[in-house]
Amino acid sequence: MNLVFLGPPGAGKGTHAEILSKEKRLVHLAAGDILRRNVKEGTELGNQAKSIMARGELVPDALVNDMMFAEIRSLKAKGSEGFILDGYPRTIGQAEELDRFLTREKMSLTAAVNFDASEAVVIERLSGRRICAVDGKIYHVRNMPPKTEGICDCHGQPLLTRKDDQPETIKTRLAVYHESTKPLIDFYFRKGILRHVAADGDAPSVQKMLEKLFENTR
Ligand code: ADP
Repeated sequence: MNLVFLGPPGAGKGTHAEILSKEKRLVHLAAGDILRRNVKEGTELGNQAKSIMARGELVPDALVNDMMFAEIRSLKAKGSEGFILDGYPRTIGQAEELDRFLTREKMSLTAAVNFDASEAVVIERLSGRRICAVDGKIYHVRNMPPKTEGICDCHGQPLLTRKDDQPETIKTRLAVYHESTKPLIDFYFRKGILRHVAADGDAPSVQKMLEKLFENTR
């Protein structure tokens, strides 16, 4: 099964993609994580994307498309059972290119899951989000705290706040979401593959809804 996770930043796409991908043996491809890895490694793509990401704007479609197509191709070569695309596509242009790419590769999307989260919840989640510097594992100061405040459970390293989780940048990311990404809900509705998950609740209840949606799908 091949899934796309849609929703505003902070809706919980990454958290739930991580859990569902393990349960269903899918590969979790998070566009933001792959971009951040490129920034960290100082690749050409990373250098092009760095300041755009820090401002909370979108990296140009052509760059992100090529990056994601390479990832999907490598999964196909490894014979994986499917993938969850998290944070991709994020524009109508990306969604159209993804469609063409999948058709060429004789693949298709099983569903696009929209994480419905209210603006207030999203802002609260993003401003309290902390990440592990080693593997990017996500925590939240209140909703998902580490065992020791400010320290990663797995690596014992201090947790970081993402540069783009500053209040001003959160505002930009939400504006970009409304302008460029929200139209994808209608795009996938028209294709007949849109599913909804109410994403304001706590992580276990959202996860339950998600599992219910796909309990009989492989
Ligand atoms: P979030 O979903 O919480 O905003 P991500 O980690 O998915 O965060 O993305 C972080 C940043 O990476 C985005 O603000 C944007 O600059 C860039 N990015 C991620 N995915 C895409 C994409 N599909 N197209 C363009 N830019 C992207």
